[in-house]
Amino acid sequence: MPVSIAENLKKIEGRIEEAAIRAGRDPRAVSLLAVTKTVDPVRIEEAIDAGVRFLGENRVQEAKEKIAAIGRKVAWHLIGHLQSNKARWAVSLFDMVHSVDSSRIAEALDHEAKKQGKQLPVLIQVNVGADAHKFGIDTERAVMLVRQVAAMEHLSVEGLMTIPPYFEDSERTRPLYRRLREMSAEVASLQIPGAVMAHLSMGMSHDYEVAVEEGATWVRIGSAIFGERV
Ligand SMILES: *Cc1c(COP(=O)(O)O)cnc(C)c1O
Repeated sequence: MPVSIAENLKKIEGRIEEAAIRAGRDPRAVSLLAVTKTVDPVRIEEAIDAGVRFLGENRVQEAKEKIAAIGRKVAWHLIGHLQSNKARWAVSLFDMVHSVDSSRIAEALDHEAKKQGKQLPVLIQVNVGADAHKFGIDTERAVMLVRQVAAMEHLSVEGLMTIPPYFEDSERTRPLYRRLREMSAEVASLQIPGAVMAHLSMGMSHDYEVAVEEGATWVRIGSAIFGERV
């Protein structure tokens, strides 16, 4: 039987709500980013018809084609690793970038945002799991990177993002998500001008409930909506 995108979404929204309530949080503080990498435009439209308003893509080129097909009735977020030579397109295509993990990439984005007369909201990607296979700044250097990016005129730091190592048991990601929330509170207490620590982008298909319990404001969900990627 084909997966029903609308039914999947309803189920996920219900679980997000329950997880928020369990943690004493307002469910409206959690937004769903539907991750549409490798998903074709027809099925993306189905998700939009079912109420999705925020889409996440991890590659600039793929997003460019989809945005040409689908347009800007929804917001597009970049969640994948970015190279400086793609900064121009990243700035012109995306409403938010979740994956800033070096001053070099931030400088390239700031430079392009200035040229395009834009103010770009960004999140700083932190490698809380110290996973050699994941991108993200290490925890020791994260505060410094927040300071550097916050000082850039055309970027606004709005929070932190992480991609933990994959664990079969989603409870094992809990300490990492908690660590990201604590880091965010630490950074907020420093009151760095240009940095508003309003967002925590964390949680994917297999562990978003844990992430919501630990404070996620953006959950990035792909396969639980669209089915396993081929
Ligand atoms: C693919 C991807 C997701 C979604 O993964 P699922 O397990 O399919 O929900 C979330 N975040 C990032 C950065 C991704 O690349």
